[in-house]
Amino acid sequence: MTNGNYKQIINEIDNQSDALWQLSTTIFNNPEIAFKEFKASKILSDTLRAHGYQVEEKIGGLDTAFRASLGNSDASKIAILAEYDALVGLGHACGHNLIATAAAGAAIGLASIITKIKGQVQVIGTPAEEGGGGKVILAEAGIFNDIDAALMFHPASKNMVTRKSLASCRLTLEYFGKASHAAAAPEEGLNALDALILSFNNINALRSTLLPRDRIAGIVVHGGEAANIIPAYTSAEFSVRALKAKRRDELVDRVIACAQAGAESVGCQMKYELSPGYMDIIPNRVLARIFQSHLEALGRVVVDPDPNERMGSTDMGDVSHLVPAIHPYLAIAPENIAGHTEEFKEYSISEAGKNAMLDAAKAMAMTTYDLLREPDLLREAKEELAIELELP
Ligand SMILES: [Zn+2]
Repeated sequence: MTNGNYKQIINEIDNQSDALWQLSTTIFNNPEIAFKEFKASKILSDTLRAHGYQVEEKIGGLDTAFRASLGNSDASKIAILAEYDALVGLGHACGHNLIATAAAGAAIGLASIITKIKGQVQVIGTPAEEGGGGKVILAEAGIFNDIDAALMFHPASKNMVTRKSLASCRLTLEYFGKASHAAAAPEEGLNALDALILSFNNINALRSTLLPRDRIAGIVVHGGEAANIIPAYTSAEFSVRALKAKRRDELVDRVIACAQAGAESVGCQMKYELSPGYMDIIPNRVLARIFQSHLEALGRVVVDPDPNERMGSTDMGDVSHLVPAIHPYLAIAPENIAGHTEEFKEYSISEAGKNAMLDAAKAMAMTTYDLLREPDLLREAKEELAIELELP
């Protein structure tokens, strides 16, 4: 019986709430940065093993990634993703201790009813969200190839299920000129700093054409050696973001054209290197609707994202282009408290943080149960993603 299974999931997670909070506290008190999350991945793996999950460590060539599986591997597979990296110098000021624990909690809840459902539940431990893009690396290694849908939750200051994120990337520009004495023989030099300054000005001239969510931000990394030498080498780094990956790629092409023009106007050479960024999140509406209904049944009021909602970027975006996915937010702090601050960090270890973690665990578990019980939902979710990927 459906309601009975929801109840069993909720009871199991409530019964485990002290152990889950202990897990969250341990991760919080031992902050580990990107690709160094050894303690967190071990304690999560051990916990899931204790609840019957088969754990594969170091998947995708990443020492601190893991995959914990339970259920029938020949049927549909739902992945619940766990992030557990901390911020350099700030600890768990993004609340990833709550993300990891909610994933474990959802998995434990589902373990209590696994014999009643076809299908497989996976917890995928994904390192380095804050820098390094663990999910991008795991995606390239094929970890999401046979997954039918992916869920996670992120703490925030509002309950939102369909908030998007920006597609991002990094662009390094290098200019090669010719050094010369700036007083005795400036005419013999090729000024790589002029090339770089012209490039910045060209890029700034793009700004009147930018859409509200387009972002182009740059810094000078290397501006020259000394004021009495015509700079032979300079470099800059840019962050380019947009609401969609296609738009981001258009912007990158224009920034490169601006940089090329800057170099050409003073006779320098320009080289660029594009570092893969994150894709935008495509929040799957089929999954979001189910998740939201469970969240509301648990007593949370869900709000629509503000049209001017502030957005960052996350590697969950890449996953959402491969499989139907959601990256919902649950409030742990008042609306004026932003992530990546000391204040937000306090809330990541607060009673409100604990409640959000438990609600997220329950809603993710019940959503997973629904998806495995009703194959039509997964089919609809996949059809929606196919349509979204075709949109300009
Ligand atoms: Zn985060």
